[in-house]
Amino acid sequence: MSSAPGGLPVETELPERVGVLVLGAGLAGCAALLAAAEAGQYALLLEKTGEIGGSTVKSAGLSAFSGTDEQVEQGIADSVDLLRKDLLDVGKNRNDPALVDLYCEHQLATYRWLKGHGVRYGEIHAASGQSAPRSHPTDTTRMLELLLRAAGERGARIMFDAPADRLLRDGSRVTGVRLADGREVRADAVVLATGGFSMNPELLATFAPQMEHALRQGGAGNQGDGLKMAMALGAGLRDTPYIKGTYGHFHVEHPDEDGTGILAVYKGAIAVNREGRRFVDESRNYKEIGDAALVQPGVTTWQVFDAQAMAQANDEVPIYEFAGRERAGMLAKAGTIAALEAEIGLPEGSLQRTVAEYNMAIERGEPDPLGRAHLSGGVGNPTPIDRPPFYAHPSGTVMLATYCGLTVDTRMRVLDWWGAPIERLYAAGEITGGLHGAGYMTGTSIGKSGVFGRLAGRNAAHEESELEW
Ligand SMILES: Cc1cc2nc3c(=O)[nH]c(=O)nc-3n(C[C@H](O)[C@H](O)[C@H](O)COP(=O)(O)OP(=O)(O)OC[C@H]3O[C@@H](n4cnc5c(N)ncnc54)[C@H](O)[C@@H]3O)c2cc1C
Repeated sequence: MSSAPGGLPVETELPERVGVLVLGAGLAGCAALLAAAEAGQYALLLEKTGEIGGSTVKSAGLSAFSGTDEQVEQGIADSVDLLRKDLLDVGKNRNDPALVDLYCEHQLATYRWLKGHGVRYGEIHAASGQSAPRSHPTDTTRMLELLLRAAGERGARIMFDAPADRLLRDGSRVTGVRLADGREVRADAVVLATGGFSMNPELLATFAPQMEHALRQGGAGNQGDGLKMAMALGAGLRDTPYIKGTYGHFHVEHPDEDGTGILAVYKGAIAVNREGRRFVDESRNYKEIGDAALVQPGVTTWQVFDAQAMAQANDEVPIYEFAGRERAGMLAKAGTIAALEAEIGLPEGSLQRTVAEYNMAIERGEPDPLGRAHLSGGVGNPTPIDRPPFYAHPSGTVMLATYCGLTVDTRMRVLDWWGAPIERLYAAGEITGGLHGAGYMTGTSIGKSGVFGRLAGRNAAHEESELEW
């Protein structure tokens, strides 16, 4: 038997029956697999593509946790109550409060569980929607390898190139899965962890037509398969009106090569459209800036900044990797605003006028016409853009994750449109809706994949088993 990353044995023959069947090898699926194996079940993971990772391994790797060792070491004051308040504020109270409570209740235990399996976190920093720094960076590929290794040691298995196509049902109860090639596998419980649909233009057109001009990034397999399979059984949906893209992306032709984009706006840049005019309060959530950018003429905008913002570059934090982008030739650079304006092809005088007005309002202490009072959220004060050299980063909006999805209860059971659990069907990760509500706090997508993936696997493992041991 060959082995997958982390040494997890790869199954080549589809078994007839397993205890817990997990679909999708991102964080939610790997966490569910391990939790089910830890609970003593024979757990099998089916992955559609030839590799592990999905969007998880393409991500910036930030998890939102509160009360961690790293926060304590960095002297960061945070609390579960503040995390809960932030989640509800960012979500404009459209979140499912029971899922918010569930996340808050289990996030620290999940963090300790992950660390117990060898996951390590780097320096914590603040990002969108966090009133205390709680973005915990980690190497996501390594994280998955660690979980898979531990799952393998407990008897779990994985199969690649095994796209699940339909859920099998006996009466009201899910009994297994049919693969795209027609093979079937029975299970005592199925966990859907197939991720979101950021890579499926048809589903995006159905649920988020406003994203028509957004770039797309995510795992190649993230086509919403699990969503469709559950919908075919009557599963309900949540948060679909709040799908948003992320601002700061550069590559129109190669979105996959561009990581998460940069947010120089949070270090003092202004965002201008192709008419050289500002169009948004740049301190707002990068999803809201993304929405505003999508309706600008020609869609592409620029983040314009000076040497003062460049001095705050940090190559270890992808969104602040301005210096790295300069080295990679991804920034326009000039000694004057007039020269920068010409270099990026804005109408003559437009950027010069915008920057002059912006600087003057700051110097006179006048309110910003677009309402910008801070650099990011409620943090930092805007400063004039007047220290050469000047930079411009072409910036678009990219779909990184879809955030909305299946309705689930606090046991991670998938609920139908009437709120009744679809028997023996569980879901976790980006495929689920409800946690984020109308807005997204950085780190809660990876966060919920870990927290809810673990719970889904554990709960699925407690379904009455028909396996004979
Ligand atoms: C560039 C980028 C940066 C991001 N940065 C962050 C961040 O810093 N913090 C954060 O919280 N979130 C971030 N996100 C979002 C986050 O990465 C995802 O929401 C999260 O990792 C999803 O995990 P998941 O396990 O639910 O799904 P995924 O990791 O996407 O895994 C789903 C898996 O299911 C497989 N699959 C799909 N269909 C089938 C099928 N029919 N049968 C079997 N397998 C199937 C897929 O191939 C894939 O391997 C980012 C996303 C991107 C793209």
